[in-house]
Amino acid sequence: MTKVLFFTDIMKLHKALAFFSLRSYAGKKVPVKLHMGEKGNSYFVKPELVKHVVDELKKADINPFLFDTTVAYHGARHTKEEYENLAKFHGFTLKNIGCDVVIGDSGVLTTVEGRTFEVAHHLKNSTHIFALSHVKGHIQSGMGGAIKNFGMGGVTKETKIKIHDGSYPVYHKDACTYCGVCAEVCPFQAIKVNEESWEYTEQGCFGCSVCVDACPSKALQNQDADLQFLLACSAKACVQDKTVLYLNELKRIVKGCDCDPNAGPIICPDIGYLVSNDPVAIDKASLDLINKVKENVFEEINKIDLMKQIRYGEEIGLGSSSYELIEV
Ligand code: SF4
Ligand code: SF4
Repeated sequence: MTKVLFFTDIMKLHKALAFFSLRSYAGKKVPVKLHMGEKGNSYFVKPELVKHVVDELKKADINPFLFDTTVAYHGARHTKEEYENLAKFHGFTLKNIGCDVVIGDSGVLTTVEGRTFEVAHHLKNSTHIFALSHVKGHIQSGMGGAIKNFGMGGVTKETKIKIHDGSYPVYHKDACTYCGVCAEVCPFQAIKVNEESWEYTEQGCFGCSVCVDACPSKALQNQDADLQFLLACSAKACVQDKTVLYLNELKRIVKGCDCDPNAGPIICPDIGYLVSNDPVAIDKASLDLINKVKENVFEEINKIDLMKQIRYGEEIGLGSSSYELIEV
């Protein structure tokens, strides 16, 4: 069964990593895939933790570099230059961390489940990767952890847009009974239903699929597929055939993602850290630990079935939801 190591003191990272052989990583340039925070957000992984991870990797004769990709929306991480400046502002510098900081803006087409995803060159060209994911809520996927770190964070802007667009609802008038269920469940009031009219505002829609799942008449379908499915496929495109170790940080657990300047408030007390070599197992373990402390906290806030991400990940062979939790 997949091992997931749990610890509350970061000084135990060394002990946790010892459960997974780092021998094959030795001598290699290894991207540490992480999110270095949107402008205005203060919950992303902190440089102190990142430095600790980098130091630990260096002790194993690994040559790490921090890596993330540009984003599709026009914020402070839209271009390489903008993201490099913001990363520096947030403390991610060669001087502070002790390794290079690289932002990717191009990729290589990779096929998973009959769809193509443009995986960032630096990930595609690496045989070994270290993933550092801050676990928090997310308005579209319910929770962001290791799967989301790669599913959205490991691909180019073009693929990010394709994933978002692919999950938007398509309306089939003939099947609609104007029951109003979709309008009731939409967390963003993007749908209005009256006696014989159905209105939808694409600008207000986040492609969360809640309406598609709730429609009793199958009058709504995703343009391509459920966002969670597309994220799992995209994550698989990034990590398949590679050796990857995952560290999830369960601290500063807020309702929104690290891309959101208004991600707060904190909705669950700090829990600790998890390490595994399986992205599905580590996200499932993260969810289970959070549910133990604050049951269904993400579902209540973001109204999204979090198990979809886990189930899809398992279905497409990204990983396993069965795990053995070992406390170190
Ligand atoms: S839930 Fe389905 S059937 Fe009901 S109003 Fe919405 S689209 Fe129409
Ligand atoms: S996909 Fe989500 S945000 Fe968009 S209309 Fe449906 S429920 Fe609302």
